[in-house]
Parts: sequence; structure tokens; C-alpha cells
Amino acid sequence: MSYVTVNQLTKRFGENTVFQDIDFTIEKGEFITLLGPSGCGKSTLLRSLAGLNPVDGGEIWVDGQDITHQVPQQRGIGMVFQSYALFPNLTVEDNIAFGLKMKKMASHTIKQEVEMIVDLVNLKGKEKHYPHQLSGGQRQRVALARALVVKPRILLLDEPLSALDAKIRKQLRQQIRHVQKELGLTTIFVTHDQEEAMIMSDRIFLMNKGKIVQAGSPETIYTQPANEFVAGFMGHYNLVGAEKAKQLFNINTEWKVAIRPESIYVKEEGRQYGRHISAPQKGIIRNHQLLGNIIRYQVNINDCELTIDLLNRSSERLLANGSQIELLFNLNEIQPVRN
Ligand code: ADP
Ligand code: MG
Repeated sequence: MSYVTVNQLTKRFGENTVFQDIDFTIEKGEFITLLGPSGCGKSTLLRSLAGLNPVDGGEIWVDGQDITHQVPQQRGIGMVFQSYALFPNLTVEDNIAFGLKMKKMASHTIKQEVEMIVDLVNLKGKEKHYPHQLSGGQRQRVALARALVVKPRILLLDEPLSALDAKIRKQLRQQIRHVQKELGLTTIFVTHDQEEAMIMSDRIFLMNKGKIVQAGSPETIYTQPANEFVAGFMGHYNLVGAEKAKQLFNINTEWKVAIRPESIYVKEEGRQYGRHISAPQKGIIRNHQLLGNIIRYQVNINDCELTIDLLNRSSERLLANGSQIELLFNLNEIQPVRN
């Protein structure tokens, strides 16, 4: 039996069904990300697992125990939110110790536990600081420490990095993952950022409109999107209608086909291409954006607009708008996707 099993979980707010019949299992020590657009039900699902939102149907099992109707305090689940929610009048160490004091733990034990966690989340030297004396990233580490110190069975993180700037965000991603592995902690992390989900997760549960539309490793979700929504959400897949797919790729399908911008090449003289690469077809560069390490081109081919990503190897190779080019498609990477 899996460590976490969710069966047929359903949650409504009045007339609004936020999610219905959600099923999944999670193994002990896994890092799962709930990924999906704003409003798809990620926070509500997380809060339901924590016991902060009572559910309208279904079951939640953890470690062989039905916790569906337990109060939050009984569940052994730690949670970190986007906003830090620290006590402003308590120091870092008192913020972290709060949960242990509530449990009436002996003060020398509390001291030891807090020290260990402070070390783990890299807050040494900040113990006597107050929240207003800390940066956003440091405050979020205090929130993390506070959730960890009570040794939860499961850690839930609801967009904990969304309020932080890009650099701190990247550091904290690594640190959360490091701590999670160190403790072997079963973790469910919420984000709407696909890059963040790809980098951090053992598995991603991709949600849309209250459903898990695909669950799998980052690699699988990225390379084998289950439907149009997934293809649109992950990467920048080109979606080509059935009729155009026949013309361009000679593929017969009733669905749209998806191909990633990095699986299309602009033909270069003298370069050898493998057998799974299509014959060249003429196109015109319409537009381009410089994204740093890649240049993203919009290309028109047979009245079809495609996005192509090329590595930004040198500025001389930039293809001007209006250039005539020949395109090659990696036929192994073209796949029909359901709607
Ligand atoms: P996400 O976290 O994916 O952005 P939420 O779980 O916050 O999405 O919201 C999902 C849906 O549930 C939205 O339609 C939202 O308006 C609704 N919702 C969330 N919380 C409440 C609440 N306390 N009362 C009523 N509706 C809510
Ligand atoms: Mg949310």
C-alpha cells in the first residue's frame, strides 16, 4: 500500500465544485508537485489534505490510517504558505519553537531540536533576529523550519517561493529539495511555474479545472503530453491541426499534432541530418525574440505559423525577419494529442 492514498476526493463551495473524484497515490519520501493555472484547485486540494477544508466526499489515507475526518492537529501534516505568517513579536528561534512549546516539550529538548533545524535551513546566526530584520527568503526559511521542527509525516508547501525574487527563488528551490531529501520527507509542493515543477519534482500532478489531467515524471509530462492542455502548458509546443499535419508531415490523424520548438531545425549547408528528419520545406521568418541562450523564431510555412527555438550560438547567425529558410522536422518528436 502506498504511503498516501487519495480516493474519489470531492470538494464544493456551495454550487461551485472545485474538484471531483480526485485519485492519486504517493510513495514515502516522494516529492510531488501540483502544477496548474491559477484557480484550478491546487490550494483547495492541499488545504483539504491538511484538514483546513472539510471535503464533501472521498477518503485520505496516510500510512495505513484513514485521516479524512481528523482535525488538522492530529494529522501530522506540516504546511508552509506563500505569505510567511510568522509571529512578528517573536524571534526566529521562538517562532520555530512555538509548535514544540504547544506540545509541552521539555525546554532542553526544544533547544536541541530548534538548533538542529536552524542548521538544516541555514539560519545560523539569525536566531535572535525578529521577522522584520530578515529578508523575504530568510523569513520563508523560518516558516519552513517551523513546519519541519514538529517532524511532520507529510510536508505541504503552497507556492512558498512565489513572493520571492528570481535569484532567491532559485536558491530556495535547491534548499527545499536538499532538506526534503535529507529528511526523506514526503512532500507536496504547489506551483503554477512549470520550470519550477520540472526542476524540483519526482513526479508532477498537472491539474486543470479541478482534475489531475496527467501525473508522471517531469520528463514524461514534458515529452509525452496527454492532451492539448498539457502540450500548451508545458514548454511551447506547436499544435498543428489534422489537415495541416497531413500537408506538412504526412501524418494521418483525427487529432491535432504537437511538436516542440526545439524539435524543428533550420537547414544548414554541409550538415548531415539523421534518417528520422523530414525532407526540407520552405518557410519564411516572420519574427524573433531573443531569450538569452535561445532565439525563438516565428516561422510561416504553408500558411502555418510555427515557433522554433535555436541555440543562440553567435550573433552572425541571427536570421533576419523575412529570410527564406528551409525547415526540417524531427519526425520522431511529432505526436498526435487528444483535445
Ligand atoms: P489555485 O490554488 O489553483 O489557484 P484555489 O484552490 O485557490 O486555486 O481555488 C479553486 C477554486 O475554488 C476557485 O474557483 C476559487 O474561487 C474557489 N475557492 C477557493 N477557496 C474558496 C473559499 N474559501 N470559498 C469559496 N470558494 C473558494
Ligand atoms: Mg493557490
